[in-house]
Amino acid sequence: MDSGERFDFISALPETLSQYLQSQGFPAYRGMQVFQWLHRKGVLAPDEMTNLPADVKALLHRHAPLLPVTAGQHFTSRDGTRKIEVCLADGLRVETVLIPEGNTLTQCISSQVGCAVGCAFCRSGAFGLLRNMTAAEIIGQIFIARAFYKPEEQLRNVVFMGVGEPLQNFAAVSRALQLLCHQDGMDLSQRRVTISTVGIRRGIEKLGELTGGKVSLAISLHAANDAVRRQLVPNVSVSVADLIQTLKRYPLPDRMRFTIEYVMVRGVNDSEEDARQLVRLLAPIRAKVNLLPLNPHDKTALQPPTPEQVQRFQDILIAKGLSVFLRKKRGDDIHAACGQLLALKDDKAP
Ligand code: SAH
Ligand code: SF4
Repeated sequence: MDSGERFDFISALPETLSQYLQSQGFPAYRGMQVFQWLHRKGVLAPDEMTNLPADVKALLHRHAPLLPVTAGQHFTSRDGTRKIEVCLADGLRVETVLIPEGNTLTQCISSQVGCAVGCAFCRSGAFGLLRNMTAAEIIGQIFIARAFYKPEEQLRNVVFMGVGEPLQNFAAVSRALQLLCHQDGMDLSQRRVTISTVGIRRGIEKLGELTGGKVSLAISLHAANDAVRRQLVPNVSVSVADLIQTLKRYPLPDRMRFTIEYVMVRGVNDSEEDARQLVRLLAPIRAKVNLLPLNPHDKTALQPPTPEQVQRFQDILIAKGLSVFLRKKRGDDIHAACGQLLALKDDKAP
């Protein structure tokens, strides 16, 4: 029977649950039942899993709590955006954000505690990488955020734009993707899940193989030439030309486009020449551009461009036929906007 070792129920796919339950003397089909309770119905309390016999419930109880994360403090922005602190079992913390749009929610989730890339404008990477998150911790953010939905709200999109570089934690992130999109679980469509990455080449290739290119991919480019990119995105060796080549080989479905994220920094990458270079660089791929005027915070001295400069930049891209979106700033009064999320190991306030 039960060996006493912890089994990670939350990150297991139905096949693995079935094998484990069989190894504990139960029929294989109990695995799918447990999976559906956890991931389709979002039920974590064994006693509420009404179609399970007492001995399976007892097994689940012995492994409780099934979720390795809890919600810490939470903050609600003037615009309805909610930021929730995610407490991990070893005392580390990251953050997740719920962004409402009508009755639908986009949840922004973290994938690492800190980040090794250390972009010049990003608060999340300010302390370096403390550790990877597990698949159960990543998916756990979806579970704990449900307590903060309004009754009429539904989760529609999940974006890996919280703390961490998702493609530097590929194994856990890909498992989390499988769980989010599993037809017997939450059944999110793959294109409603966005992986945002600075451009880890091998990771992009593996993601293409795993998903057939159906997961939405956002590339944090921020510069149209290597000199500026090295300044803003250190610790990543790929050249912008090689990155575009990698995207060209990606199995992007016909109706989809890459999102190119471009944080605009005053005096660094916001000139009209930068805009023209960006147009040329993106010519070989199907892409839309998300311009994000830098969100200022306490970990950077960099500043956003003036609104006029942003407009000029945007006009050049549009004139050359690119679709451009100016990212609306959500939740910046509670430090929940892009690049403002934090990973912590002590008791600091937000
Ligand atoms: N590590 C991944 C995902 C997390 S960051 C990545 O970098 O893509 C999510 C987005 O927020 C990225 O495009 C990032 O560049 C942007 N961002 C980071 N700091 C920012 C800031 N201070 N202002 C505006 N956007 C920022
Ligand atoms: Fe890491 Fe992304 Fe922040 Fe860069 S922007 S430091 S890659 S989390």
